[in-house]
Amino acid sequence: MRHVLPGTPASRGMALGRARLVRPSRYAVDNRPLAEDEVEAELEHLHRALDTARQELRELRGKLHGALAREVNEFIDAHSLLLDDAELLRGLDDLVRIGHYRAGAALKKQRDRLAAVFEAMDDPYLRSRKEDIDQVIARVVSALQRHTTPEERKIAARVGEILIADTIAPADMAQLAGNGLLGAVTSSGSAYSHSAILARSLGLPMLVGARDALSLLHDDDLILLDADRGEAIVHPTAQDLARYRAWQREAAAEGRRLATLANAATRTRDDVAIRLLANAETPADVALARTRGADGVGLYRTEFLFLRHKGLPSEDEQFNAYRDLVLGMGGLPVTIRTLDLGADKADAAGLVMRGEDNPALGVRGVRLSLRYPAVFTTQIRAILRAACYGPVRVLVPMVTQPDELIAVRTLFKLARQDLKRENIDLPEKLPLGAMIEVPAAAINVRSLLEHADFLAIGTNDLAQYVLAADRGNDALDNIYTPLQPAMLRLLSHVIGAGRRAKKPVSLCGEIGGDVNFTAMLLALGLTEFSMHPSQLLLVRDRLATLDHAMLRGHSARLLRATTHERVAEMLAQLAY
Ligand code: PEP
Ligand code: MG
Repeated sequence: MRHVLPGTPASRGMALGRARLVRPSRYAVDNRPLAEDEVEAELEHLHRALDTARQELRELRGKLHGALAREVNEFIDAHSLLLDDAELLRGLDDLVRIGHYRAGAALKKQRDRLAAVFEAMDDPYLRSRKEDIDQVIARVVSALQRHTTPEERKIAARVGEILIADTIAPADMAQLAGNGLLGAVTSSGSAYSHSAILARSLGLPMLVGARDALSLLHDDDLILLDADRGEAIVHPTAQDLARYRAWQREAAAEGRRLATLANAATRTRDDVAIRLLANAETPADVALARTRGADGVGLYRTEFLFLRHKGLPSEDEQFNAYRDLVLGMGGLPVTIRTLDLGADKADAAGLVMRGEDNPALGVRGVRLSLRYPAVFTTQIRAILRAACYGPVRVLVPMVTQPDELIAVRTLFKLARQDLKRENIDLPEKLPLGAMIEVPAAAINVRSLLEHADFLAIGTNDLAQYVLAADRGNDALDNIYTPLQPAMLRLLSHVIGAGRRAKKPVSLCGEIGGDVNFTAMLLALGLTEFSMHPSQLLLVRDRLATLDHAMLRGHSARLLRATTHERVAEMLAQLAY
């Protein structure tokens, strides 16, 4: 039966695919006892699900080749053995037949019993095999809950997968995207999380805050993900599919219209020039930034290099990535941000402190880099070497006070001296900038301007710290909005201070590429916007409709607004 699951759009677009659920290990079960006349049907249901699970494992084995096959086959063997374990099967049958348990409840009971046996074992390896039980039982439970029709299974077999999970870690998202993921739906999370940013950067539609996703969806359900409307349609009808085809045609046509703007200058309606920069991490982002006519790269998040890597990337590996970025931009300025790990960006190499009570308020960004001078210096050397290939600026994340910038400058100076001794040619000057994402840095921005050559405002974090609202927590959507008057006043303060100090100020948070905020940012005096390259043409298109002088003229009034609802109303009047 068709049903619609609402959620919050985090990355635009549509996708048709089959659901792949990643469940937390607890799942809801129906504990109502069976009536006597339901027992046989329930046993049949259970055995069908067990057969499906066995069949899936056989198919999985057939699909694997090479080294991966050797590793994974071991698990498949263990899982297959469990599925044929006489004791497990007898226990399940007895629970249904004698105890009148429903199949799901019987599976859970057997899981808990076996898990307790494994947990009591002394051998840590055997203890860890509890995971196998969980995975096997989860596979049977998911087979039990599947409601796809044969026709849907035929379509589903031809389409890729849409991930359904509670939340997705950025590293998992990157890895899955490389394996043909079509889109994602999460039951919690927010549009400002790093996973959402990554989804936009990868062009994957994503819905967050779809609360009932894990309880209502089943593996292999056919899903039409409509991240423009903010819904996932389960078992879409022919009408839904026709709408999807129409969307595909429209998206192609809109793409062609916007493409005509790729080489156009970025100007407001009253002919004020605006600089549009790209937030670019991958070579594909860089290529897109060029073809969409970006004026440079305003934010290169180097941590993605670390997140994709098993250990720490070496100096040469980093140098290659940074040099390719600089070369890829063909002489346009590139802003490389130093490592910003911590909070929701945990690395594989174990740099990030474990067990902090408040990681978002902990040792992250430049605070972390300065604790590991050797790791930081490796990055600094790689950046300095790459800067020989084109104009590079260095951006420091999570700056709170000037001494952090001074310490980074010192490390650059030392690395420069070492490289000179090694006879490596270096550019004379490398502008050093501060991200403004900590409230103290925004309020006391003048102290940073004494040491920074430029500023980049990171509104994603700034908003979370100003509003004391986790950027990844969808329960706080009504608080976490950049339209909050306190945010407007801080932005205006920082942009004004930069202008008076004659130092460039850009904004690279998500609102920089969101056309709903373009008028507000122009009104506050912003002239450099940095965004994911997929947004460049949309923002250029929007800017051409906005009157800079008129918006600037209203900024004082906008700054006097006392609620975010009032700001939204005023902007709606101003922008149209
Ligand atoms: C920000 O905080 O706005 C920002 C651009 O940095 P990130 O999203 O990588 O934390
Ligand atoms: Mg940030």
